[in-house]
Amino acid sequence: MSDRKKAIPRARMAASERDRRSRLARLMHGAGLLRGTLVLRERVCGKPNCRCRKGHKHLALYVVASKRGRLRQLYVPKAWEPRVRQWVEQYQEARRLLEEISELYWDKARTRQE
Ligand SMILES: [Zn+2]
Repeated sequence: MSDRKKAIPRARMAASERDRRSRLARLMHGAGLLRGTLVLRERVCGKPNCRCRKGHKHLALYVVASKRGRLRQLYVPKAWEPRVRQWVEQYQEARRLLEEISELYWDKARTRQE
């Protein structure tokens, strides 16, 4: 039986790793996760006498992300901005934590430390 699949006892983990894993676990347990970048775009609406026609363009928020090599974007209405922002931040946080944990294991593999 291989011991590679065995979970590492939490007591043997460094505090920094435990902390990252518990923050990651909290995010994985039900937090909204959205991969994408928020961008503010200026746009002109359809109304003929609107101020946007005279240079005061409207600002609109979009979330942009690639899917299978292609960029796609989604308009985010004002009412949805807080939750979409939160989902994007949570995804970035989860990704950052995962990357930091991976870095710890990179070092373990490099130094051959169990
Ligand atoms: Zn307008």
